[in-house]
Amino acid sequence: MRYARLMKRAAIVGAGPNGLSAAITLARAGVAVTVFEAEATVGGAVRTAELTLPGFRHDVGSSVYPLGVASPFFRELPLARFGLRWIEPEAVMAHPLDDGSAVMLEHSVEATAAGLGVDRAAWRRLMQPLAAGWSELCGEVLGPVVHLPRHPLLLARFGASAMLPATALAKMRFRGERARALFAGCAAHSARPLGSIASSAVGLVLAVAGQASSWPIVEGGAQALSDALAAYLVSLGGAILTGVRIRDLREVGEADAILCDVTPRQLRLLAGERLSHSYAKKLGRFAYGPGVFKVDWALSEPIPWRAPECLRAATVHVGGTLGEIAAAESAPWRGEAAARPFVLVTQPSLFDATRTPAGGPAGRHTAWAYCHVPNGWQGSALEAIEAQVARFAPGFRECVLARHVMGTKALEEANANLVGGDISGGAMTLGQMVARPTLSLYRAGAKGLYLCSASTPPGGGVHGMCGHLAALRALKDFG
Ligand SMILES: Cc1cc2nc3c(=O)[nH]c(=O)nc-3n(C[C@H](O)[C@H](O)[C@H](O)COP(=O)(O)OP(=O)(O)OC[C@H]3O[C@@H](n4cnc5c(N)ncnc54)[C@H](O)[C@@H]3O)c2cc1C
Repeated sequence: MRYARLMKRAAIVGAGPNGLSAAITLARAGVAVTVFEAEATVGGAVRTAELTLPGFRHDVGSSVYPLGVASPFFRELPLARFGLRWIEPEAVMAHPLDDGSAVMLEHSVEATAAGLGVDRAAWRRLMQPLAAGWSELCGEVLGPVVHLPRHPLLLARFGASAMLPATALAKMRFRGERARALFAGCAAHSARPLGSIASSAVGLVLAVAGQASSWPIVEGGAQALSDALAAYLVSLGGAILTGVRIRDLREVGEADAILCDVTPRQLRLLAGERLSHSYAKKLGRFAYGPGVFKVDWALSEPIPWRAPECLRAATVHVGGTLGEIAAAESAPWRGEAAARPFVLVTQPSLFDATRTPAGGPAGRHTAWAYCHVPNGWQGSALEAIEAQVARFAPGFRECVLARHVMGTKALEEANANLVGGDISGGAMTLGQMVARPTLSLYRAGAKGLYLCSASTPPGGGVHGMCGHLAALRALKDFG
């Protein structure tokens, strides 16, 4: 009894990867944890469902996890015991070009460079030192924002390139279109104009992660990662309540700490007058990035890429040259949807037979694609996305058995954190990478209240580090 009274209690709002990671960190430290999740299943943007036809299992949000497999936090958890199995496709990523070839990101710098012709040596010079130090670099970029770098030289080398606009870095380093396009596709994950400062950072991290390690998918679908996190939490004594949408923080009951896996706009509504006026005002200035328009397909056969090597990778970057990708990615920032968008395609069923109906006709497949659109955009990018895929895979449309589309509104309805369709919890601008969402980072402007979502450092992507670091902050504050 006495022990029970001494035990700290925490409530977590939201069971995305960051909410679950925060909960696990606290439960491992002996805190009694209850997680409240609005939707019927855990996982946030890491879920899997039959969106098209029976037996076709689609990742509702994310699908490919370079930062998940590299996450210093996930790596210390016994997730394999709870059913997590990473699948590493034969190649990291494919990027088809109009000449019918594809440029490939391979599992080593050497193998990638071999496909880059005139830029073979330049690619090696840029990537090799970073790939050689990947586990240290990963600890630095996914670690706390404010810390004494343990590998200052490596970080300085990374920073010198990462701070540049992606278009400038690509043009400065590479002469040929193949290397430029390959890098531009990686940088486009930042959802920033490729001419903006530090837009190279995300591209470098992803390219290096792939070549030093991998961009894996999860056997059984993304949901298996969320289910493994949830099962581990429960094994530690944590409780998870699904189907409970918190509308006011008073609903979570008595707690020594409340950690919110939500974005700043939602926090203001949930916390109301608990927040100081000045903190609430700062949250109000937090900027959201472009939204996405997503389509899931059930397919009668693999996507008929003109370049057959595209079938070696689960991720395909569709958008052509550096110039085209840069133009497509700047459009949403002007409030426009690109006529020829940069399209991110995943084709997980090529490497994971569990995604299609067992015992059904052989050769059936699933794939998804999304492109960036203006935040909150209400139009349809379906035709533009399919035209881009068909450009590099003639006959693609004839393979589609069924499709399921989600615009910015549908995405936000399925997961309140996807504000206006923004999948990163807020724009990843230089300022918002550091002061995310404000300079007080995880501490949310009231005693015992914390933010732990992708709206805190290190930001978007599935790595659980935002939740883990927020929970460490709360534990420190417990003293
Ligand atoms: C279409 C799409 C594709 C993506 N692709 C990739 C990818 O391939 N690789 C990658 O690494 N990342 C990808 N991402 C990004 C990645 O999924 C997110 O950055 C990550 O899920 C953020 O985790 P989170 O825990 O901060 O938030 P979320 O995963 O969004 O989880 C937040 C949770 O909080 C719940 N919640 C919100 N408000 C309340 C409330 N009031 N009460 C109770 N519960 C609440 C929500 O229902 C949700 O379950 C993608 C995202 C999307 C949407």
